[in-house]
Amino acid sequence: MKNIVLFGPPGSGKGTQAQKLVEKYDWVQLSTGDMFRYNIKNKTDLGQLAKSYMDNGALVPDEVTTNMLRAEVERNKDAKGLIFDGYPRTTNQAEQLDKILKEVLNREVDVCLALEVEDERLVKRILERGKTSGRTDDSSEEIIRNRIREYYQKTDEVSQHYREDDKWVTIDGVGGINEITDRLVHAIEKLD
Ligand code: ADP
Repeated sequence: MKNIVLFGPPGSGKGTQAQKLVEKYDWVQLSTGDMFRYNIKNKTDLGQLAKSYMDNGALVPDEVTTNMLRAEVERNKDAKGLIFDGYPRTTNQAEQLDKILKEVLNREVDVCLALEVEDERLVKRILERGKTSGRTDDSSEEIIRNRIREYYQKTDEVSQHYREDDKWVTIDGVGGINEITDRLVHAIEKLD
């Protein structure tokens, strides 16, 4: 069973690429953003709580996110592989993920694949996506810039966690969708 973290700033293509890998390998995508949006749509307590943070482009508190993620890992114990998309976003979350994988599956993260895209391109991509996504956090440049700021303040440092374990691999996130998938697949095929 593979456990892959797909990492990168907002708009770097994690969701799109996770979907490609799901199709190719029959793995399961665990997207914390999608989980929150599902809860918002269904007006659950968790959704109510997450909404205020998400609408401002801020991170939802770690404890809330981690409990939700743990439940999803438990639900998908028998998957052939898990792709983590949007989690971990803080160093604390990275530590929690190690703990969850150890406790629930007796496994470790195999690799963290980090998509690299420059900021101005991210803003353009997200604004473009906002025309059809219906996501409130995609609609204003101010909120998008806040998400990117959150990324540099809290998320970027997660790289250190995986670098220390020699599990950090950067991937050029600019190019055609299939071209980028090929780059990811190339890195995955190197795992044993
Ligand atoms: P993107 O990567 O394009 O920013 P996501 O769908 O991954 O979009 O996340 C949308 C929002 O959901 C984030 O801005 C944040 O508010 C919340 N969120 C998602 N994952 C996490 C997480 N691991 N920790 C805290 N908040 C999260």
